[in-house]
Amino acid sequence: MSDIIKLLPDSVANQIAAGEVIQRPASAVKELLENAIDAGASKIDIILKDAGKTLIQVIDNGCGMSETDARMSFERHATSKINKADDLFAIRTMGFRGEALASIAAIAQVEMKSRRHEVEYGTFIKVEGSTFVSQEICSCDPGTSFAVKNLFFNVPARRNFLKAPPAEMRHILDEFHRVSLIHPEIGFTLIHNEKELFHLYGGSMKQRVVALFGNLYNERLLPVHQKSENLSVEGFIGKAEYARKTRGEQYFFVNKRFIKHHYLHHAVENAFQELLPRDSFPTYFLHIMIDPSEIDINIHPTKTEVNFQDTKLVYAVIHAAVKKSLGQHNLSPQIDFESTSDHGIDFGDISRTGRPVQPPSIGLNPDYNPFSNPGPTKQQWSPQPQAPKIQTENWRIFHENVNFDNIERETILPEKTALKGIQSAHSKFLQIQSTFIMSSVKSGLMLIDQHLAHWRILFEKYLKQLENRKLGSQQELFPQTIQLNASDADLLAELHEDLHMLGFNIESLGLRTFVVNGSPEGFGDRNATEMIEHVLEMYKTNSSDLQIDKKQNLARSLAANLAIRYGQQLSEQEMSSLIDQLFACQIVDVAPDGRKILNVLTTNDLFTLIKQ
Ligand code: ADP
Ligand code: MG
Repeated sequence: MSDIIKLLPDSVANQIAAGEVIQRPASAVKELLENAIDAGASKIDIILKDAGKTLIQVIDNGCGMSETDARMSFERHATSKINKADDLFAIRTMGFRGEALASIAAIAQVEMKSRRHEVEYGTFIKVEGSTFVSQEICSCDPGTSFAVKNLFFNVPARRNFLKAPPAEMRHILDEFHRVSLIHPEIGFTLIHNEKELFHLYGGSMKQRVVALFGNLYNERLLPVHQKSENLSVEGFIGKAEYARKTRGEQYFFVNKRFIKHHYLHHAVENAFQELLPRDSFPTYFLHIMIDPSEIDINIHPTKTEVNFQDTKLVYAVIHAAVKKSLGQHNLSPQIDFESTSDHGIDFGDISRTGRPVQPPSIGLNPDYNPFSNPGPTKQQWSPQPQAPKIQTENWRIFHENVNFDNIERETILPEKTALKGIQSAHSKFLQIQSTFIMSSVKSGLMLIDQHLAHWRILFEKYLKQLENRKLGSQQELFPQTIQLNASDADLLAELHEDLHMLGFNIESLGLRTFVVNGSPEGFGDRNATEMIEHVLEMYKTNSSDLQIDKKQNLARSLAANLAIRYGQQLSEQEMSSLIDQLFACQIVDVAPDGRKILNVLTTNDLFTLIKQ
């Protein structure tokens, strides 16, 4: 028997190792971005095709590489960032393992151009599946440009394992958010399939949050500053009243590196305590700055965990920082803490001055129906409307056992017959606190939540419209122009067809500006930008963790935003129409989010109530 053990050829070894570092296009994007940042770039452009499967190009204006360094950079364990094991405890760069480029080159066709600022010409290298193809002199701008083509071209199993483009794109955007949030001083552009998704100018962290997640964040953030001896925490938390029903924007960074940390997350949550509405999650963007010797980041390249030497201390500092920030806000809500950082600043892609003047929209519509055109005031636009607190505890009214499947329709339907002939002086329905509709039914007294009822009605209507592809639009008398941030503009484009089925006639004017020529019934003269931002925001929140499909999500988000609000007065006729429509729904008693729409107080309940 002859010996059978051989050393693997480098290319095979590289390919195996690459699997650890590069799992999907997003991992390559992350590595290339980190290299550009380590190279001191102040501007980074990302160009993608097919969610990075066909092309990932990252162009930076950083320090560039010499011809030899450029060639060396593709070797495994080739790095300019550390020399000895001790350096691992003083890491100030994003990369240090010298693995990324070797890994990417093992599983893709890579072209790299690089030029140092002090020389006149650059170098152009081609590598394909770990095989060096060519290197020549070229003319190019100072800095480095990587083009990674056909990721996993030589590993079909991996290529086939990739998800559909939207899912891969989401991973890329996650990485993009993580990197760009903590480097707000760097300008970024992101182009996907020739469409510019982001154009971020260098600025403050707050401006970066707003540019990435939307204008709504302008008024939602509270600053956090906390310094202790070895450690400081800086950043922003979301005001408690804007806490989300889903884990949305939660970012910890340690020394400019994104991390996940359950224990520290608890510190934030705990600091919010009773300020957070039930089942909602805080928003935070917190940067922990700590001496590199106090942490261990020598972990797996794709992992985002960091070990602290003194985790309890970090917990305490974060807890205190968040508490302080919340305390200041709640004690003196009049003071605008943010105003200082906000003035005279160019918001980049959102031109404030260049906004076209809106013609006033005057209610000239002869079909104007006050019921479906609620025209709410600004205050009513809170994303999570809260009903005025009513002392229900003692009532034991909302007897949990009522099963609406067992109640015959007649018992619940308002007693039309009993009220026949009674003139308008005697109302069939009574609106209470502009919030509830009360009606007498056979078994007692029915209370209906007006907002939730209308949400249910519109939700079912929109869902039907989306499924039957039936149009229900009304032409705008005065089309409104809206301007969105890049991610919302992109989402709007993605939802364009479905929004059309729901009655929106939205036309792109380019540069994230749109004109709304038609809108669903009930849209009225609302502020279209605000409205659409709210709908998109809810859509994003839902899709990040609700496992509902696109149509459900859209119907739900639009319905929630167009449904009548608390505080809106309804006429007898409006109440009657609302209740008729509610009882024509497939589900009568719960809102799309599971909250109860109505309940019935039985005669017994009423007796108990009176006696108490
Ligand atoms: P690491 O970042 O861990 O050092 P990489 O494989 O990512 O390893 O990169 C190898 C080396 O190539 C880096 O240490 C750096 O010297 C050089 N390099 C990579 N990308 C760039 C870039 N965009 N600009 C300048 N140098 C770069
Ligand atoms: Mg690197």
